[in-house]
Amino acid sequence: MASIAELEASRIASTAEIDAYKEFGLEKYVFLATLSEKTCPVCGALDGQVFDIDKAEPGVNIHPMHPYCRCTTKAYVPDVPSGKTRAARTVEKTPKTEYVKNQTYTEWREGTLYDEYKRIEKRMDIQLKKISKIYGRHFR
Ligand SMILES: [Zn+2]
Repeated sequence: MASIAELEASRIASTAEIDAYKEFGLEKYVFLATLSEKTCPVCGALDGQVFDIDKAEPGVNIHPMHPYCRCTTKAYVPDVPSGKTRAARTVEKTPKTEYVKNQTYTEWREGTLYDEYKRIEKRMDIQLKKISKIYGRHFR
């Protein structure tokens, strides 16, 4: 049962994160999902949200949210600006890591969906032009 072992490992990791934050006297953490097509909507929606360390509960507001959850956390430090970029997995057939503007999962997903829509629209335009040539009239 690999997923149970993995789930347990993630639970141990989140407990260790919480303990470390407490040790540093922090009160809040930020939920971090992976910017990836494979990220589930539940984790994606939680990305960037700030939670009280005291109220951290695996499966509710801290990883693991589910087996194979790749989410993590970062310390919430109000006066320190967060990084300008963050890692994202590209949506190509062979995904690779790229660095994008620091944004939430929701913002990133909207952007990638828009890019995908533009790509499809461009392909459709090419096809429609070909069809228009064949039939001698415009279809758009
Ligand atoms: Zn997750």
